[in-house]
Amino acid sequence: MTVTNTSADALPITVRNVTKTYGRVHALDNVSLDVKSGEFLTLLGPSGSGKTTLLMVLAGFTRPDQGSLKFGDAEMIRQPPHLRDVGMVFQNYALFPHMTVEGNVGYPLRLRRVPKPEIAARVEKALATVQLSGYGERRIDQLSGGQKQRVALARSIVFEPRILLMDEPLSALDKKLRDRMQIELRQLHEKLGMTTVYVTHDQREALTMSDRIAVVNFGRIMQLATPQQLYDQPENKFVADFIGDSTFLDVQRDGDTCLVGGTPLKTTRPVPPGDSLSLMMRPERIHLIEGAPAPDDNVFEATVSDLVYQGESFLLYAHIRNGPEVAVRGAIRGDTYGRLPKPGATVRLGLHAADAVIIADGGL
Ligand code: ADP
Ligand code: MG
Repeated sequence: MTVTNTSADALPITVRNVTKTYGRVHALDNVSLDVKSGEFLTLLGPSGSGKTTLLMVLAGFTRPDQGSLKFGDAEMIRQPPHLRDVGMVFQNYALFPHMTVEGNVGYPLRLRRVPKPEIAARVEKALATVQLSGYGERRIDQLSGGQKQRVALARSIVFEPRILLMDEPLSALDKKLRDRMQIELRQLHEKLGMTTVYVTHDQREALTMSDRIAVVNFGRIMQLATPQQLYDQPENKFVADFIGDSTFLDVQRDGDTCLVGGTPLKTTRPVPPGDSLSLMMRPERIHLIEGAPAPDDNVFEATVSDLVYQGESFLLYAHIRNGPEVAVRGAIRGDTYGRLPKPGATVRLGLHAADAVIIADGGL
């Protein structure tokens, strides 16, 4: 008997044209999605965007109005949850408070009528996997939040599901513990290799943990890509705005040239089709120009409005002439902070051609 899965047991998930409405609300609007075998995929979006609904469709607790869902080659839409071989972790743990840790973790095995001695061994192994060896006899109300979440996790993996679903599992934990659990969950995924769909509204958590991220808004997938692709080359303004900080400047198209404030823009990035375009400016990609600008720099004249000390870095806010206020983030080393321009000063901001990302409007 083994408790540890291998990637060979993992299954791909295929979602096709899934729609779910509640009255006039389109909780899911014609969603199609492929999760690769063994992949860690995150659904990221604001509250009410349809993340939980999609996860419930995968788990079998919600029946969509239309669409299809396959695990491997098997159609799942009509399968009840207990026949789907899916482990599930909920935000509020959903543990049985009157049972011991062992009682909770062994529950899925008792449901499946696994023989008693085998249950004990598998529970112990699952507890070891989440670093709770020896906690079997404890009552749930004797545990901290982080320990409860580990028990919920052990319960979700004890029956060796081929697919693991997690709905904001860390949101009740404080920040330090959350940061540590993100790394632990990621390591556990590498060890067990289950196809995992993870839900969060926290973009940093999604960037930290995921192989790929599906950004969800109004029941639709706005972009599905790796963390780096999402951050560096968002396909629409919603994604650009939701992930990381950004300011947008209007872009006018003049044939093949893009103009910002009447000046031709230097960019090495692809320019999307259409006339309604914006230049995305991320705080850490803008620099203060002293002396002559580099040949590949786009230069913006601006007036400093605020300077904020943040320990490891500074945030400088500046109004671009005839444009919006942008934020500039930079590292602080030695006495650099003291030499930064103060509010009221005129500065030149540089944006390298490789960092000049142009986004098609719409999607917000
Ligand atoms: P998220 O998990 O991204 O916060 P949900 O999937 O829970 O979003 O909800 C998506 C939308 O569907 C929301 O507008 C929500 O109010 C609505 N919704 C979800 N479940 C129900 C339900 N059982 N009855 C009515 N409306 C629902
Ligand atoms: Mg939710």
